[in-house]
Amino acid sequence: MGEEGGNSVKVRIDEDLCTGCGLCEDTCPEVFELDLDEDVAKVIVDEVPEEYEQDCQDAAESCPVGCIEVID
Ligand code: SF4
Repeated sequence: MGEEGGNSVKVRIDEDLCTGCGLCEDTCPEVFELDLDEDVAKVIVDEVPEEYEQDCQDAAESCPVGCIEVID
């Protein structure tokens, strides 16, 4: 049903596709962080806090190469 209560969301980045553009970090720095050494974005949380789920969805939709996967 997807209602509140223990329904954790995870995010994954396909680092082979990521261009390191930084858009996801701009959109949701609580979840995404650019790794400047590797020039790819990293997910810095295990599970996305509920208040950032929408931001993560937005980041996934905005990613120019579509390499962010939001897993419900
Ligand atoms: S928006 Fe997409 S391509 Fe840009 S840094 Fe984030 S994951 Fe990589």
